[in-house]
Amino acid sequence: MTVAAIIDGKAHAAQLRARVAELAASFERKSGRKAGLAVVLVGDDPASQVYVRNKGKKTVECGMASFEHLLPEATRQEDLIALVEKLNADPAVDGILVQLPLPDHLDEQAVVDRINPDKDVDGLTPASTGRLALGLPGLVPCTPLGCLMMLKDRLGSLSGLDAVVIGRSILVGKPMAQLLLAESCTVTIAHSRTKDLPEVVRRADIIVAAVGRPKMVMGDWIKPGATVIDVGINRLPPEPGKEKGKLVGDVDYDEAAKTAGAITPVPGGVGPMTIAVLLRNTVVAAHRNAGLELSADAI
Ligand code: NDP
Repeated sequence: MTVAAIIDGKAHAAQLRARVAELAASFERKSGRKAGLAVVLVGDDPASQVYVRNKGKKTVECGMASFEHLLPEATRQEDLIALVEKLNADPAVDGILVQLPLPDHLDEQAVVDRINPDKDVDGLTPASTGRLALGLPGLVPCTPLGCLMMLKDRLGSLSGLDAVVIGRSILVGKPMAQLLLAESCTVTIAHSRTKDLPEVVRRADIIVAAVGRPKMVMGDWIKPGATVIDVGINRLPPEPGKEKGKLVGDVDYDEAAKTAGAITPVPGGVGPMTIAVLLRNTVVAAHRNAGLELSADAI
């Protein structure tokens, strides 16, 4: 029997995009130009092309300008860095996102390091990471910020709660832990070397799973009433006669939903929030870059 409330990421994302659209319109009225997001894709990976197109479409739907830069697979490091520098200097561009992963011959960190931190809407530059750790205003990676927004909407104050983040990547696990710490949670970061992961997870009021292993977190690891945020996106092998396998998260959803207080589904949970937060980061960056006030609770 399912007892958990389902946290509807699609509905949260739609609400956030509507707010971004309002702020984008008021930004345009005040500054005389649209907020702008530049997305850079190197190579012809079809899945990445779909992501980039989707980001561009959603950017325009929110009333912002989208600049897409599709570069060939053989792009040289210096040419990619030259493009990043050009976008850094372009006053029409408020946010820069370099779609990762880059082809193997390119040095990802060296490219990301060149993005102006004030335009770093993916929150991955050393400056953004440092600002987050220091509690200074800055841009925060989209996926963990989306998770935090859904947690706060569900639970209100997170102060004093035990949170376990499974995964320690730069993209999700580490910034998620920083955000929860800033909300005064007692945070444990678990990873592949953690001893007795089930026991660690059983302590948690909040579980964020960002591992990339299908259904790894079992139902009996969940404390009754806990809130479960499943970041994982894993495709199972296709069933006989089917072309594509099912998408599942890192949590065994059916079992966890019997014990958890609330849980995000996969798909339809964290995924839709990620692009919405990218748009949110762009409109926030636009205001800051133009010297326009945006109160902390405006979005
Ligand atoms: P990474 O591969 O960078 O990190 C995975 C983390 O999981 C590592 O820290 C690793 O530990 C840990 N891990 C691996 N195996 C275990 C294990 N058996 N027990 C405990 N921890 C383990 O992945 P990402 O953080 O980039 O992504 C994680 C998942 O989230 C993926 O499925 C990805 O597709 C998804 N994702 C979804 C997004 C969305 O928008 N919904 C956005 C970004 C990612 P160690 O460091 O010790 O190796």
